[in-house]
Amino acid sequence: MASEYDQLISTIKAYHKDADFSLVEKAHKLAVDAHKGQRRMSGEPYVNHPLRTAITLAEMELQLPIVIAGILHDVPEDTDVTLETITKEFGHDVGSIVEGVTKVGKVKYRGVSRYVENMRRFFIAMAADARSLIVKFADRIDNLRTLESLPPKKQYRIALESLEIFSPVASRLGMGEMKGTIEDLAFQYVYPKRYDYVKKIVQQRYEAKNEYINTVMKIAQKELKRSGIQMTSMVGRLKHLYSLHRKLEKYDRDITKIYDLIAIRVIVPDVAQCYSTLGVLHNLWKPLKGRIKDYISQPKPNGYQSLHTTVFAIGGEIVEFQIRTEEMHEAAEYGLAAHWHYSEHEKTSKIPERHKRWIDELARVHKEMVKGLKDIESIKLDFFQSRIFVITPKGDVIDLPEDATPVDFAYAIHTDIGNKCSGARVNSEITRLDTPLKSGDVVEVITDKNRKGPSPDWINFVKTSIAKSRIRTHAKKSISDWIKGVLPKK
Ligand code: MN
Repeated sequence: MASEYDQLISTIKAYHKDADFSLVEKAHKLAVDAHKGQRRMSGEPYVNHPLRTAITLAEMELQLPIVIAGILHDVPEDTDVTLETITKEFGHDVGSIVEGVTKVGKVKYRGVSRYVENMRRFFIAMAADARSLIVKFADRIDNLRTLESLPPKKQYRIALESLEIFSPVASRLGMGEMKGTIEDLAFQYVYPKRYDYVKKIVQQRYEAKNEYINTVMKIAQKELKRSGIQMTSMVGRLKHLYSLHRKLEKYDRDITKIYDLIAIRVIVPDVAQCYSTLGVLHNLWKPLKGRIKDYISQPKPNGYQSLHTTVFAIGGEIVEFQIRTEEMHEAAEYGLAAHWHYSEHEKTSKIPERHKRWIDELARVHKEMVKGLKDIESIKLDFFQSRIFVITPKGDVIDLPEDATPVDFAYAIHTDIGNKCSGARVNSEITRLDTPLKSGDVVEVITDKNRKGPSPDWINFVKTSIAKSRIRTHAKKSISDWIKGVLPKK
């Protein structure tokens, strides 16, 4: 088997032929020297770990400074070589990424407050250099891949933390591929029995359906070609194990309700052809009612775009199709990381708007955490829940947790609007204030300027921590006003 270093070189060559390989060599040398004598728990030389981290980054076809930072990511923390030396030898870019990784540091498990600690570290790293989070995820992937040489207690702790913290952050940054990899690696250590079970069903289903899916793809390809659609690719894609597990839990473990175990992914050159492809497929096979999803005109909050449809294909069997352009595909797989993809024409390094919004949100959560730890559970849930997006009458998009209500929406816009909220119209219809909102709802808050403040009952149905804390603050204030009112005046 080729050494880690040889594998790294060939992985870089595959997408970046004229990379500065002398710099890669120099980083390799420095890492070998710095980690000399250090070993992993498995007994192998320590340096294999940062090299594998760099391979993961190179497999994502990222720009060279990120890959080099992968090689050097543990040097300042674990060896005598300083960050200054790295910056001097490899430039500011590499130095800044490694610095960020060092700041995320070795995350330790400490009960509830680990969330605070982890989020704080993620936030600091993110603010310093968002690229360091990508390196940190690649680092975590190798640690999960080599977890078997650790004692069981530690395996469980690291795996659980990956599911609870790393995976939601990767998800919010749209890094679907890394999220799936991290979850599937961690799954077997956290829920070993469920893992075996899910793995077995996937294998059985795959064996039973593989040939059928191939036949469906052949027919679809022929029909698309006949209709003049220039397909880039069509592949059958198995669902990630952990995401299947989550879905099974949601559907009472009924595998027959899971339609996307194997989905057929169609990639076409542009948006217009995405919709034409949908039309051709629906003309060929009848779609299932309520299963057509247009995430192109209404992207998911993390930016995911695609058309999804489920059809009764040949013999009436149910098959899901996912249709997207190459750019949408890249964004879905790599998210934030897609932004630092290497290309011969260097892109400008500006972080996309939705990721910037997420960083702002992280900053807000961070601030609330610093203020007080008591509401940590609600902040945690709020932050990691699935999100919906709701639209103001002016067309602004507000990002909220699932099942948020018009009151949450009102407080997300402004504290005063929340406090004076007396009713709501959802999609032009008067709606109760505790109605759960859905993605795409247009919501208008009706305010009453004479209203004194929020109703204390709202606390029972609001979902966001911001609404809860505003309602509580108000309740406390009105009680103290009332006490002041009944106390004899001096
Ligand atoms: Mn490491």
